Order: sequence, then structure tokens, then C-alpha cells
Amino acid sequence: MKKKIAENLNRIKGEVAEACSRSRRNPSSVRIIAVTKTVEVDTIRALLELGHFHIGESRVQELIQRNAMIQESISRRKELAEEPPATPVVRPSWHMIGHLQRNKVKQLLPIVDFIHSVDSLRLAEEINTNAAKLGLVKKVRIFLQVNTSNEKQKYGLAVGAVGALAEQIRTLPNLEMVGLMTMAPLTEDREMSRFCFARCREIFEELRGEKICGPAFNHLSMGMSQDYVTAVEEGATMVRIGTALFE
Ligand SMILES: *Cc1c(COP(=O)(O)O)cnc(C)c1O
Repeated sequence: MKKKIAENLNRIKGEVAEACSRSRRNPSSVRIIAVTKTVEVDTIRALLELGHFHIGESRVQELIQRNAMIQESISRRKELAEEPPATPVVRPSWHMIGHLQRNKVKQLLPIVDFIHSVDSLRLAEEINTNAAKLGLVKKVRIFLQVNTSNEKQKYGLAVGAVGALAEQIRTLPNLEMVGLMTMAPLTEDREMSRFCFARCREIFEELRGEKICGPAFNHLSMGMSQDYVTAVEEGATMVRIGTALFE
């Protein structure tokens, strides 16, 4: 299993690097988030052993359970291991990529490193309030999710609503807006995906130009197994990949 994942990871990194060179970008500007929602926790352990620690989950409950299991095996390994351990112990950096309900925020905050799916002021306020209550030392890093494909069933902000929400979130002291996230429609049509990614980047550049979102606003989270190459060509700095990594 580990060997297969290592091969897939290398292949994906290669394709990302090629897409970067086509669009004159530095390959190190793209981070691969391994989306583990369909695989066993052992697969997450294998990723960590390979040194890959950016892990994405789409459901809070699963993220929490899996984190607990991983933390437990890390501490068990520490107890058993000679000092210092033969291989460094790598902890996951958790990315919440799915729709987030307000009543789950409190449980999620102590664990998560990035929330990719903020799409309302009420959710942003909930995160802000809970961050204060928990006394978190670092600001919570969030993406605004944009519905660039305009599909009714999709979560995310309407394209025209992003700027206004960003202005409001800017006033919340415990949040740090790090970028925009979008999902292209499930389609083989590359030009359709490209249109969505390009639209997202345009909004991103506009917000940056107006200096609304602060200095940390540097990321575009876009691209999944079917369309990450196109996403990188259009400026993605984080790609969220499941299927292509574990097949
Ligand atoms: C599942 C999921 C992914 C990864 O999808 P794959 O097609 O398996 O690569 C990426 N982003 C989000 C928001 C997801 O829910």
C-alpha cells in the first residue's frame, strides 16, 4: 500500500511540476492536500511515514476520530521507541475541506489547521467566537469558498458576494483569511473547469488588489483528482487530491 501511494504521489508531483513549468510557476508554490475521506486510518499513517502530512477530511466527526487514533499511535510509538526515535514522528496538519455546520465548530477548532469551506458570515462569527473562548493562540486560517460554477446544489458564496463577506470577516480578530477555495463541476470538460478556476483567480486578484484580506491572503485551494492539472495552470496553490492518490 505504502509503495503504491508513494508512486502515485510522485506521479502527481511530476504532473504538478510540469503544469507549473507551463505556466512559469515554481513547483514549490503548490501544496498537495491528501484527501483521506475514503480510505482507512492506516493509509493516513502510511502518508505520514512518507513524510506527507497535509491531510484533508470533509467531515468533522471523521477528522476528529482519525486525529485521535493517529495521536494515540504517535504517543504509543514514542513510549516504545528508543531515544531519539529512528524516524522523526510526523504529525498531521488537518485541512477541513467539506461543508461545515456551526454546531461542529467548537470541536473542530482545537485540531484543525485550515478551514477551506467558510461561506457565510454566521459561520465566520461562530469560528471567531469559539476561537476566543478556547483561547487559541494563533488565528484560525480560513478560505472563503466560492461557487464559481453557479450550480444550485453547491455550497459556497455567489461570485458577487465574496467581496462584501471578506470586508466583514476582516473585522473579526481571530480569523485569518488565507485565500479562496472553489470546486469545478464534475465534468470531463476541461474548459468548463478552467473557466471556474480562472474566475476564482480573478476574484482573488481583485481582493488582493484592494488589500481587503490582509497579508496572509495568498492561497487558491482548487483542483481535485480529475482537474488538478488545469487548476495548477490557473494558479492553484493547494490541490485537494483523493482518488488519484489511492487508486
Ligand atoms: C472528496 C473531495 C476532494 C477530493 O476528491 P477526489 O476526486 O477524490 O480527488 C477534494 N475536495 C473536496 C471538497 C472533496 O470533498
